[in-house]
Amino acid sequence: MEKQNIEVIKKSPEELQKCKNDQVKLWEEKSYPDFAPRSGKCYRCGRDIYQNYLLGTHWEPKISNGHDGKTLVTGCPHCHRSFCD
Ligand SMILES: [Zn+2]
Repeated sequence: MEKQNIEVIKKSPEELQKCKNDQVKLWEEKSYPDFAPRSGKCYRCGRDIYQNYLLGTHWEPKISNGHDGKTLVTGCPHCHRSFCD
């Protein structure tokens, strides 16, 4: 079995900051509740909710894309922890 060659494209700190700013803007403009952690770090897995990660196993890698911040974040895209409760 060939190992799948998947590359994850990481966002730069500037891009991450932009996603975070877009999310904060959304909360302010639409008076949405601020579910997502302000630090951008998931409470459970500690990953950045706006960053892209390579998850899964060595043989079955899986790309987990971070949030773009343009829609309301209600949970971690990586470990699927809900931020609503
Ligand atoms: Zn998480």
